[in-house]
Amino acid sequence: MPELPEVETTCRGIAPHCVGHRITGMVVRQHRLRWPIPRNLPQQVTGSKIHTVTRRGKYLLLTLDHGTLILHLGMSGSLRIVDADTPADKHDHVDIIINGKRCLRLHDPRRFGAVVWTAGAVTQHKLFKHLGPEPLSELFTDAYLHERARKRTCNIKTLIMNANIVVGVGNIYACEALFMAGIRPTLRADKLSRPRCARLVIAIQDVLRQAIKAGGTTLRDFTDGDGNPGYFKQQLHVYDREGQACHQCGHPVKRVITVNRSTYYCSHCQR
Ligand SMILES: [Zn+2]
Repeated sequence: MPELPEVETTCRGIAPHCVGHRITGMVVRQHRLRWPIPRNLPQQVTGSKIHTVTRRGKYLLLTLDHGTLILHLGMSGSLRIVDADTPADKHDHVDIIINGKRCLRLHDPRRFGAVVWTAGAVTQHKLFKHLGPEPLSELFTDAYLHERARKRTCNIKTLIMNANIVVGVGNIYACEALFMAGIRPTLRADKLSRPRCARLVIAIQDVLRQAIKAGGTTLRDFTDGDGNPGYFKQQLHVYDREGQACHQCGHPVKRVITVNRSTYYCSHCQR
């Protein structure tokens, strides 16, 4: 599943090909994505200029003349820039044609991705209204996390994966950040002290920054390749390493299920 670092890298990769250019058409080959794409969407966006391409959580936002096109990559989606006459693959569901020559092409075999249009203020849109701060912004601090954690009885891993608390911390990054901070994922959120919140905030930011950096080197060019970026190559300390030696202490990495997700940790290093 594309996580925040993959979406951030996609954002940086496509922006130079989109910003300042005009949408001259839109082809929707498959309307049934996570939500149906409105039939009149091509008409709404054609002729409009793309002013900015930004990311909020795992959503990409294309600001146009009269509204915002919201894109989500779902479980298996990817975006790339190709020549508009490049034959479409069976999972290439949407083309946003830029300046008549090139297009931003959405490829999504599992069709959990989304293309949503809003004419209103994007911050007030139902997808964004309740979202917590960006993990790499100055709003995500130890004070903030401690305040949100101290009345919660859920475990800390569930808390940091809740987009209403902080956006974009998926399963892999939650496991890795908790390992780096020395915090056991099953610890009750309200038991986390302020200094440990500070360590966790730094660990989340570090693990995401490293992944974005890895993505920047893996995906230099969004205009070639097979359009299926996959996961960035990053050294993982605990995720998917059940039974293997902890990189820090050598004890075997454990796996437990928390809220239907596999959770990996070292019982020796994480308390
Ligand atoms: Zn260990």
